[in-house]
Amino acid sequence: MTVDEQVSNYYSMLLKRNAGEPEFHQALAEVLDSLKIVLEKDPHYADYGLVQRLCEPERQIIFRVPWVDDNGVVQVNRGFRVQFNSALGPYKGGLRFHPSVNLGIIKFLGFEQIFKNSLTGLPIGGGKGGSDFDPKGKSEAEIMRFCQSFMAELHRHIGEYRDVPAGDIGVGAREIGFLFGQYRRMANQHESGVLTGKGLTWGGSLVRTEATGYGCVYFTQEMMSHHGASLSGSQVIVSGSGNVAIYAIEKAQELGATVIAFSDSSGWVHTPNGVDVAKLKEIKEQRRERVSQYVAEVDGATFHAEGSIWDLPCDVALPCATQNELNGDHARSLAAHGCRFVAEGANMPSTADAIEVFREKGIHFAPGKAANAGGVATSALEMQQNASRDSWSFEYTDERLQGIMHNIFQRSAETAAQYGHEGDYVVGANIAGFKKVADAMLAQGVI
Ligand code: NDP
Repeated sequence: MTVDEQVSNYYSMLLKRNAGEPEFHQALAEVLDSLKIVLEKDPHYADYGLVQRLCEPERQIIFRVPWVDDNGVVQVNRGFRVQFNSALGPYKGGLRFHPSVNLGIIKFLGFEQIFKNSLTGLPIGGGKGGSDFDPKGKSEAEIMRFCQSFMAELHRHIGEYRDVPAGDIGVGAREIGFLFGQYRRMANQHESGVLTGKGLTWGGSLVRTEATGYGCVYFTQEMMSHHGASLSGSQVIVSGSGNVAIYAIEKAQELGATVIAFSDSSGWVHTPNGVDVAKLKEIKEQRRERVSQYVAEVDGATFHAEGSIWDLPCDVALPCATQNELNGDHARSLAAHGCRFVAEGANMPSTADAIEVFREKGIHFAPGKAANAGGVATSALEMQQNASRDSWSFEYTDERLQGIMHNIFQRSAETAAQYGHEGDYVVGANIAGFKKVADAMLAQGVI
């Protein structure tokens, strides 16, 4: 059997076993495509059912989350934790609270997380969790009661050496606080290493809030300088206006770029003169309002409920909102309007078609599992600080983050070249991430 046939057999089996989970299929297809290249060269990676084991989560936990709303009515949501792979360390990955969450979405995120975490070079396995709970329009008391009920079940599955969740869409510092409080009560111990993204006075790490956005920009800067360009003086589009987007905007502008647009699910804002980051933080982080409010308070900005943010001319695009937000047509429009670099702050924001267009048009493209790994890497640094009862300075932690992003870029670039796909950071990141986990799984036997 050829490697092509072997991998397509794996894929057919996986489609059957994971029916109705299109995002998981998409993530599997992208990684399996890169694995063909490895298996041609290093066929021993197909031994001992390695690929099949890698694509099957070690454990999938689904649970009921009942809570009482402000009107005294009982609401029921569904909670998930997919513990995908712990060959390199405890499961590590965020919790997402969004109405679109289902098992397939959590599996795609958990699967991606395995390779991302491996790429960081730190001892962390891959997992992901969340709920179809929608925090929008809920009072703070409702969010607290939901988090407490969610943790009442989750607490028995996590721990410093077992599984260490963090934030993701809809789960920020406030939610991590409520979740940690409930864990502490149920476990009857202050086990700071059980969650990351904690408040700075109770075990959190400086730079964790900024890390995913900053890390994405550090990666972009590495990629641009490798291709003789620089962020300084460039025009950048950032989609989203959540945790990742805000700090990507902040760092890109600090490095001399002008961020000309950002968005949320209600529409996008054109800011030709750059973003007033302090105002954006006030609106999104403190007041939790929509992006349309920004144009009411900042001169020269316009709000657009229609059309696409990806139709604006730019040099660099950083999709930082959600999966599949940038499709083939968007990619063609970006190329036609001069964009040369795309780096994913979000997880899988580009569709498979979009990635194909980037390849055709010669756009340098950094996949999320490499470009947004700064968040989880800094979470692992938070775990190190918790384990040693220490807290590091902002400068030192940021330096560590920059070093990690530099290494991820180098490893992705070198691996792509080594396997004959120079400049293809999708192939480079997938293979480099895969080999480290695969070697550990082979060494540890069939489990
Ligand atoms: P936040 O909840 O802070 O922000 C999410 C942003 O994306 C908001 O602006 C939100 O708009 C927008 N958004 C979410 N869903 C949709 C949708 N269906 N359509 C359009 N816009 C949408 O999340 P984060 O910034 O933490 O996460 C953003 C992305 O980055 C996700 O893909 C996440 O998995 C990924 N990521 C996050 C990491 C982290 O450390 N936080 C680490 C690595 C990756 P609205 O408010 O209108 O919903």
